[in-house]
Amino acid sequence: MSDAYDVVVIGGGPAGYPAAIRAAQNKLTVACIDEWKNRDGSYAFGGTCLNAGCIPSKALLESSELYVRAKEEFGTHGVKLGSIELDLAQMQKRRASIVKTMTGGIGALFKANGVVGISGHGRLLPGNQVLVKASDGSEKTLQAKDVILASGSAPIRLSTVPHDGELIVDSWDALEFDAVPRRLGVIGAGVIGLELGSVWRRLGSEVTVLEALPELLTFADQTIAKEAQRHFKKQGLDIKLGAKVARAVVKGSAVDVTYSDAQGEHTLQVDKLVAAVGRRPFTQDLLAEGTGVALDPRGFIQVDEHCRTGAAHVWAVGDVVRGPMLAHKGKEEGVMVADLIAGHYGDLNYKVIPSVIYTAPEIAWVGQTEEQVKASGRPYKVGVFPFAASGRARAMEAGQGMAKVIAAKDDDEVLGVHVIGPLAGELIAEAVLAMEYSASTEDIQRTIHAHPTLSEAIHEAALAADKKAIDAINR
Ligand code: FAD
Ligand code: AMP
Repeated sequence: MSDAYDVVVIGGGPAGYPAAIRAAQNKLTVACIDEWKNRDGSYAFGGTCLNAGCIPSKALLESSELYVRAKEEFGTHGVKLGSIELDLAQMQKRRASIVKTMTGGIGALFKANGVVGISGHGRLLPGNQVLVKASDGSEKTLQAKDVILASGSAPIRLSTVPHDGELIVDSWDALEFDAVPRRLGVIGAGVIGLELGSVWRRLGSEVTVLEALPELLTFADQTIAKEAQRHFKKQGLDIKLGAKVARAVVKGSAVDVTYSDAQGEHTLQVDKLVAAVGRRPFTQDLLAEGTGVALDPRGFIQVDEHCRTGAAHVWAVGDVVRGPMLAHKGKEEGVMVADLIAGHYGDLNYKVIPSVIYTAPEIAWVGQTEEQVKASGRPYKVGVFPFAASGRARAMEAGQGMAKVIAAKDDDEVLGVHVIGPLAGELIAEAVLAMEYSASTEDIQRTIHAHPTLSEAIHEAALAADKKAIDAINR
């Protein structure tokens, strides 16, 4: 293996590995270094997303939702089953097997594209050199024309909520429980807290979510957030808003969580406590002195809109730089940078990054919320279509939620689309494409949507923005 590469990528998560693959597609020589180690001691590419985030959480969300549907919904379809039993060991085995297949797939992609994958730690030295401490204990210095930093993020730890990996855990631990906790506490009603709370609630835990903010999902459109709150309550998720956790103390085999709200201080006892209070950029031991790469006050690597750091030919992408901590945002940054390095065109439209929360109902959106549009002062119109009026959603026993389209009154441009309902994360792709092409509601209105499909909800919501919905009463 030569020690000189056109591109060295540090970090093989969803930002780093696509950057490596695209750089190789651009005929550059590429190495990608990753130090992710799983609980069994094995190294794996794929970062947080594939090993401990997006993929395992979606595997468990799917399995747990099927469990609930088998218990509560199959009878409605006229499908009679005997007694329904949970086999958590099998559920976890399936989750682990999906993760293994997906992370293994990156190795195959690297091989097919000619990327040299290295398991171990990478540290940027001045002069675009990277010191690698490989998993076999060997050390070597790689020389790179360009370096892409993609070291990702790590869970935020509260000093008064001491993580022990057993009773007080993080999101990764909470994806690998081998028994259903009777009482589960979750600190933080962000995306991760709500998804994990949903999984264990469906599998039988009494779940209490403690959220410091007075409102749920403050970053989402509030019509959607209110609808979500109603469904979560019905599902038995006890979400306490305005509840700020001060500390947690292990008492024997339980955890006492102290939080305060408008009524004063309270203590909640749980069997497991998940801290899901956000993530921080991870740059530990990444940068040697004198590289010229700067961090901002919150610890993110400082970059411009094309992910250039202050050091020549050093780039940074994904969770370690500003912007939403989302796998697809990191992926597109990685691809953009790999194209720019090769002298090709590369750009990213940060205004149309979709967000998805994989609860039931699923929540997804792109663009501005109604609150943001209102605050901007631009006159706007709103169209809403309820899934209760969708034949396909009804057939799926999923007639809950709505699609909401917000558009400018002046030129009809779509400014935001928000969905809560079945497969919202899939439906939002149409809205992302529409907004990427600066579509108007008229463009969506004149686009033929197959019947009966869930996608008709977006079509009808776009029509409703002009009071032209056919399958719902226009208001
Ligand atoms: P990471 O995935 O964190 O990868 C960084 C990699 O770099 C890691 O493997 C790390 O070990 C390695 N590394 C760090 N420093 C070094 C070094 N010095 N040398 C070598 N290797 C190094 N996002 C979504 O878009 N959709 C979801 O559904 C979703 N679900 C999530 C669920 C959970 C429970 C969690 C925790 C996160 C979820 N996310 C989701 C967020 C998503 O996982 C992150 O946005 C994404 O992983 C960021 O990608 P990244 O490549 O920047 O960083
Ligand atoms: P996110 O950053 O989207 O992952 O969400 C993390 C959530 O945790 C935010 O909604 C925070 O308000 C919440 N949070 C952070 N610290 C605390 C705390 N001490 N007690 C309760 N909620 C918290």
